[in-house]
Amino acid sequence: MKAFTFQRAVTPAEAARAVAAKPGATFIGGGTNLLDLAKLEVETPSHVVDVNRLGLDKIEGTADGGLRIGASVRNSDLAADMRVRRDYAVLSRALLSGATGQLRNKATTAGNLLQRTRCYYFYDVTKPCNKREPGSGCSALGGFNRIHAILGASDKCIATNPSDMCVAMRALDATVETLQPDGATRAIPIEDFHRLPGSTPEVETVLKPGELITAVTLPKPVGGTQIYRKVRDRASYAFALVSVAAIVHADPGGKVRQARMAFGGLALKPWRVPAAEAALVQGSGPAAAEEAADEVLRGARGFGSNDFKIPLTRRTLRSVVADVTRA
Ligand SMILES: Cc1cc2nc3c(=O)[nH]c(=O)nc-3n(C[C@H](O)[C@H](O)[C@H](O)COP(=O)(O)OP(=O)(O)OC[C@H]3O[C@@H](n4cnc5c(N)ncnc54)[C@H](O)[C@@H]3O)c2cc1C
Ligand code: SF4
Repeated sequence: MKAFTFQRAVTPAEAARAVAAKPGATFIGGGTNLLDLAKLEVETPSHVVDVNRLGLDKIEGTADGGLRIGASVRNSDLAADMRVRRDYAVLSRALLSGATGQLRNKATTAGNLLQRTRCYYFYDVTKPCNKREPGSGCSALGGFNRIHAILGASDKCIATNPSDMCVAMRALDATVETLQPDGATRAIPIEDFHRLPGSTPEVETVLKPGELITAVTLPKPVGGTQIYRKVRDRASYAFALVSVAAIVHADPGGKVRQARMAFGGLALKPWRVPAAEAALVQGSGPAAAEEAADEVLRGARGFGSNDFKIPLTRRTLRSVVADVTRA
C-alpha cells in the first residue's frame, strides 16, 4: 500500500474542504472497500479524511413523513431500525442480504453508495482496465465476464454496480444529499446519482471533487408488499448475479394495482424500467410477468460467460411476481 496522510474531520464543512484542498485526497467511512482497493494499489490516495465523527450517524423523520439517513449510519443499524423494518422493508431486506454481519457493522450508507465494481480485472492491476486506467482497454470484453452487465454497458466497460442497498433505494426513489467544499448543498435523485460507463467509465457518479455525502432521504412510506430477491452463487458473502427490489400493491385476487421494481447485477447502476411496471399493472397473470420481463430485457446483451443472466432475470422476475401476487 502507498503511504498516505490521515486527518480526522469534525465537521462536514471541514471534511469537504480538506478533500478539495489536496489532489488525490479522499474520504473514508467504514473503510471496507477503500482499504481493500488501497492495499491492492487500485486506489492510491495521498490523503485520507475520516468522516465518522461528523455527527452524520442519525436516522430521523422528515417534515413530509419520510426518513433522513445520515451518511455514516452503519448498514446493520439501518437494517435494524424499526421504522425501516416497518415502512421500508425492501431496504432492510436488501441490506441484510449484503456481505456479512461484520462488514455490515462497519459499512456506512455513503460508502455503500460509492463502493466500486467487483469486476475481477478492475482489481488486478496487471490487466488493462479503462475504469482504473482510462484508455488501457477492457479485459472483461472477450474475457471472463460472468458477473458483468447485460444492460447499459458500452464498448469501454461492461462492469456492474455491486450494491444491494442502492437497488432498494432506487425502488424507493431515494435522494442523496451532499455538501460541496464551497458550502453549497445538493439533493440528487438516486436515479441520476450513478452514471453509465459510456466513453468515460472512470467517472462513476455525478459527485464533484470534494463533494461530501451527508444523508440519504426516503419519501414517505408507500406500503405494499416489499421483497428483495437476490440470486447469487452462495447463500451469503456473495454479490448478486441478479437481484430484484419489488414493491407491489395487489388485490386479493392477484391483480397488480401498483408496482415498483428495481434490478441489481444487470448494469453499472440500479436498473428501473417504468414500462415494465406499467406492463404488470395493465396485464394479468403470468403473461403480465412475461411482458414486464420483455420490457426489462429490451436491448439486453450478453458477452459470453454472462449470457445466462438474460434467462435468469426473466425467471427471477417471474418468481418475484408470483410471490407478491399470491392470493
Ligand atoms: C467480502 C465482501 C463482501 C461484500 N458483499 C457485499 C454484498 O453482497 N452486497 C453489497 O451491497 N456490498 C457488499 N460488500 C461491499 C460493502 O457493502 C462495501 O464495502 C461497503 O458498503 C462500503 O462502505 P464503507 O463505509 O466501508 O466505505 P469505504 O470503504 O469507507 O468508502 C467507499 C467509498 O466511499 C467514499 N465515501 C465514504 N464516505 C463518504 C461520504 N460521506 N461522502 C463521499 N464519499 C464517501 C470513500 O471515499 C470511498 O471512495 C462486500 C464487501 C466485502 C469486502
Ligand atoms: S468491465 Fe470495466 S471495470 Fe472491468 S475491465 Fe472492463 S473497463 Fe475495467
